[in-house]
Amino acid sequence: MGIEDKIRKVTPYTPGEQPKSKVIKLNTNESPYPPSPKVIQALKTFDWDRLRLYPDPAMSDLTESLAEYYGVKASEVFAGVGSDDVLSMCFLTFFAGDKPVFFPDITYSFYDVWAEVYRIPYETKKLDDDFRIKAEDYYAPNGGVVIANPNAPTGIGESLDLIEDVLLHNKDSVVIVDEAYIDFGVKSALPLIGKYDNLIVVRTMSKSRAMAGMRIGYCFGNEKLIKYLNDVKYSVNSYTLNQPSIIAGKAAVEDREYFESIVKRVKATRERAAKALSDLGFSYFPSDTNFLFVKPPEGHAASDIFNALKEKGIYVRHFNKDRISGHLRITMGTDEEMDALAEALKEILG
Ligand code: PMP
Repeated sequence: MGIEDKIRKVTPYTPGEQPKSKVIKLNTNESPYPPSPKVIQALKTFDWDRLRLYPDPAMSDLTESLAEYYGVKASEVFAGVGSDDVLSMCFLTFFAGDKPVFFPDITYSFYDVWAEVYRIPYETKKLDDDFRIKAEDYYAPNGGVVIANPNAPTGIGESLDLIEDVLLHNKDSVVIVDEAYIDFGVKSALPLIGKYDNLIVVRTMSKSRAMAGMRIGYCFGNEKLIKYLNDVKYSVNSYTLNQPSIIAGKAAVEDREYFESIVKRVKATRERAAKALSDLGFSYFPSDTNFLFVKPPEGHAASDIFNALKEKGIYVRHFNKDRISGHLRITMGTDEEMDALAEALKEILG
């Protein structure tokens, strides 16, 4: 009785740690590189007196530059405070039916949290033993589908054929493809938004554009879906991105050269780190992301290595969850940071 039974109670999503002290931080898939110098410049020249005004609720400077960069119409773009905000708005907008929403059992651990908080029925579909998605699992009637491609925390990317197969079998549901890591790997579903009116493709500036601290995410879909999304957004919080974020995001999108150069560096580090880890006896899944999902050599528990690394000031991610508790997710740092990780692991393994 009392207020307790009137309160919406949830088990929250647990974000990776953001320690205050200086550590080698390989736990939350951020970029090891700074944002584009053009972003820094845009913020330096920003007229701070303007902060007395509300930002443009349509964020059109940003959505128009995204539209131009990706070759779509501005009316096919939606932006929010990180892709977490965009995904949360998508769950609220597109998953209002009675049937369960489908997503894999091993995937971004925020999906079930949004489903719970918005009271959306859901059903997880078991990835196969190699952590791959089986398209047939998504053929049954459902309230919607969410697929992270490449998937997290496995780092595995699926083909565009598989995504199209899922779309073809779900013409009566919205299919959300979360492409947070797409720039590091497989082909994007973005060219399909004109072909499938049930497709939403979600992206972020937190990883490949090195702007996790600015909180900018966006998504693409046909005009009708984007309109429905905006209707819900304007009904929850009309002013999401602040003015500096809008101009910083625009500057980031416009610097194609810098973006491509840091993505290339991260991918080169990934190849180098995969070899170093494999030399130490770790097995890993081929990664299409800015992290590696690795399994320690026989006789070494992932949780012990996680703790030992932390003691040495190196943070990686361990998920104490069914099927993946024997693995570690390691974000790509600079080459020097990855060398320090290999040294530390050598000591830990003895
Ligand atoms: N989707 C996936 C698959 C992720 O791993 C993350 C990062 N935690 C996000 C979305 C959210 O990223 P952000 O809110 O920083 O855009």
